[in-house]
Amino acid sequence: MAVKYVYFFGAGVTEGTAEMKNLLGGKGANLAEMTAIGLPVPAGFTLTTELCTEFYKNDRCYPEGLEAEVEANLTQLEKAMDKKFGDSANPLLLSVRSGGRVSMPGMMDTVLNLGLNDDTVQGLIEQSGDARFAYDSYRRFIQMYSNVVMGMSGSVLEHLLEHMKEVRDVELDTDLTADDLKQLVELFKNKIKETLGRAFPTDPKEQLWGAINAVFGSWMNPRAITYRKLNSIPAEWGTAVNVQAMVFGNMGNSCATGVAFTRNPSTGDNHFFGEFLLNAQGEDVVAGIRTPQPINKAGGDGSLPSLEEVMPDCYQQLMDIQQTLEKHYRDMQDIEFTIEKNKLYMLQTRGGKRTAKAAIKIAVDMVQEGLIDEKEAVLRVAPGQLDQLLHPSLDPKAVKDVIATGLPASPGAAGGEIVFSAEDAEEAKKLGLKVILVRIETSPEDIHGMHAAEGILTARGGMTSHAAVVARGMGKCCVAGCGGIKVDYAAQQFVTNSGEVFKKGDIVTLDGSTGEVMKGSVPTVQPELTGDFGLLMSWVDKFRRLKVRTNADTPLDAQVARQFGAEGIGLCRTEHMFFEHDRIMAVREMILSEDVEGRKGALAKILPMQKGDFLGLFREMKGLPVTIRLLDPPLHEFLPHTDKDIDELAAVMQVQPQLLKQKAEFLHEFNPMLGHRGCRLGMTFPEIYDMQVQAIMEAACELVKNEGYEIVPEIMIPLVGHVNELKVLRANAVRVVEEVINRYGIQVEYLIGTMIELPRAALTADEIAGEAEFFSFGTNDLTQTTFGLSRDDAGKFLPFYVNREVLAEDPFVVLDQEGVGQLVKIGCEKGRQARPGIKLGICGEHGGEPNSVIFCHDNGLDYVSCSPYRVPIARLAAAHAALLEK
Ligand code: PEP
Ligand code: MG
Repeated sequence: MAVKYVYFFGAGVTEGTAEMKNLLGGKGANLAEMTAIGLPVPAGFTLTTELCTEFYKNDRCYPEGLEAEVEANLTQLEKAMDKKFGDSANPLLLSVRSGGRVSMPGMMDTVLNLGLNDDTVQGLIEQSGDARFAYDSYRRFIQMYSNVVMGMSGSVLEHLLEHMKEVRDVELDTDLTADDLKQLVELFKNKIKETLGRAFPTDPKEQLWGAINAVFGSWMNPRAITYRKLNSIPAEWGTAVNVQAMVFGNMGNSCATGVAFTRNPSTGDNHFFGEFLLNAQGEDVVAGIRTPQPINKAGGDGSLPSLEEVMPDCYQQLMDIQQTLEKHYRDMQDIEFTIEKNKLYMLQTRGGKRTAKAAIKIAVDMVQEGLIDEKEAVLRVAPGQLDQLLHPSLDPKAVKDVIATGLPASPGAAGGEIVFSAEDAEEAKKLGLKVILVRIETSPEDIHGMHAAEGILTARGGMTSHAAVVARGMGKCCVAGCGGIKVDYAAQQFVTNSGEVFKKGDIVTLDGSTGEVMKGSVPTVQPELTGDFGLLMSWVDKFRRLKVRTNADTPLDAQVARQFGAEGIGLCRTEHMFFEHDRIMAVREMILSEDVEGRKGALAKILPMQKGDFLGLFREMKGLPVTIRLLDPPLHEFLPHTDKDIDELAAVMQVQPQLLKQKAEFLHEFNPMLGHRGCRLGMTFPEIYDMQVQAIMEAACELVKNEGYEIVPEIMIPLVGHVNELKVLRANAVRVVEEVINRYGIQVEYLIGTMIELPRAALTADEIAGEAEFFSFGTNDLTQTTFGLSRDDAGKFLPFYVNREVLAEDPFVVLDQEGVGQLVKIGCEKGRQARPGIKLGICGEHGGEPNSVIFCHDNGLDYVSCSPYRVPIARLAAAHAALLEK
């Protein structure tokens, strides 16, 4: 049977459902669903995402039979709307829009008012009784179509429009008369012919296919590609195309268009929330060109009349519909509607994008309202999104110099230097600067700059403007529609109402939760993770199997992590303790000593400090497991670098500076990450590990003996590649451990294990497991050594790989499951074979990355360990993994 590429909806007939998002795209599937539940939706049809894939597979050609399928649907649409496409008396006009599986706001092309030409415009005048409106629609169509479909720069026709306004001596488009607009249409057509060398198409069918091609084509435009990359949307998904009968929100003051959320997308409050514009066409609200009016009295500040007041009947109907939609979808919806001559039409519904705060509140409230259960609530919050909540907000006690206030479009606080273009934001980010991107309004072209900025400030646009929607999706703080600043791109400055001038490079702070813009940098405080967040996390912990530990080197890190719910320390990197100012001298002395005695002397100075470190950690963790890794980094990292350092050290060691210099030069390495580091240090300088093991065990024994703690220290030996290394080092460690335990005269259990961070270790994990009671996968080094890609240098060229899609993601951020992941799998299998019940964990950066956490769950690891601030993310990802388990 031939593949079906077109699905109809409207007039009681629907071929699609909400479940068919992959095929019909989110927009198409939900239009079908809304039609099915009896809501007023203008009829139309959807060309599938599969067709998009076919289109690209076949060098931008369509499969045979498609034209006939579209024709049949068009006929059905004409019947449903009782109008005729291309008819000069009663013309059907169409909108053609993209719609992928997940929404990509403003990223792809749209054509409205399609089907207009010199004949059909007469019909539109008849239908509407309004020549001005008809010619305005016609000129808009020509502008949109020539830009989107024919590839002409938008500014050419925009310029003609401006010129016409000048000649007529009027300010607004709306001041132009029907005759002006009619003339403009002619001027536009001539200009197109002159510029492109071909005429604007008058045949509606030709227009339709042109628009369909353009929308499919826009899937591969650079801004859509960037957006997909930032949001991990695969190119293979393709977009659907929705062809729908036009309804007009711009046929006069009984018409309107708007967007709304069934609950507040910023706070999650259960209030219908939205904006609309009277006498406006579709994109005007989203584009942020005019500042919209609130949908209800509760949502505004009283300065502009609401829809509730202006059109009470339509508002009531919309209110009923939004409630129906929320109950039906059991989720907060983002809806678009148009009112044509007091008749309400629904143009879209979809799960609304929301801040992390709103996501949690809505999920928790919906459980309490009986709409969803706890499991579903947990699945409603994306783990990566939690990051937003874990970031600081403004210190309420800080002194603030508020220079302007806009809309609180996306919460959080951020400060930085002002820049006025996306390009400057990106440049500054590369230089390591924090910037606030200030724009009159943002457009999809600014997406890369928004990504690079700490926060976004716009002078125009509402809560549903491009800037607001995109910033919320990115979890960036955003203040939108800040009318109190006048932005001047040419002068690279903005001026506040009080006349204060802020130039590029000046520092401002934004509070996206209140809409305040402040001069200078304002201190911030850490978030409180209580209330709804605490409740949701308590559900999370019911469902997950994977334990979540933290990587912590200090009692303070450990304390933060405990507050975030860490269940132990999976990695304490002891080298960080060595770098403290009062210790580094002793460490250097130890490294550069000529003999064992000299080294032991230096280590004896470090021992009490190291023991103090471990006492602090064990105390903070109150008996939870603590894995302490013995010294790991290349020796050369500790060497003195400057003559001053060398002279200082020489004085302490009472040797000639020259001698030390020579020794330091001798220890220099060309490839230190593959050099004298990890367990190789323990092999060549056993005294170092002996001292560390002694410090760990003395700290543990003291707490067990004197303070009643129950502690099972986990001693971890890094960078093992061959079982024989571990044999030697384990025997050394056991000797020291037993000596300490005997000295204290008590029973203390302990574990000795290793990191799996070299391919050879993974491949011989069965042998290694014979000597190790636990494995912790060090996926930072394992990624480095599997790819042969330097952790320290890859930043210079890896972004190129990711930008060119040679690699889908940076493998140091997201675990490369096919490659590095295989080694993890092999390590787990072989480890368990040799030692059933061996404890398995991961402590590379991937331990806090949601997809990698799911991988760890699926491969039966016991725990992940990540930085303190990512602990809640890992907990939630672990719950998702358990709930989504196949
Ligand atoms: C690792 O290699 O993954 C690891 C956790 O160790 P480090 O990052 O300290 O090398
Ligand atoms: Mg490592």
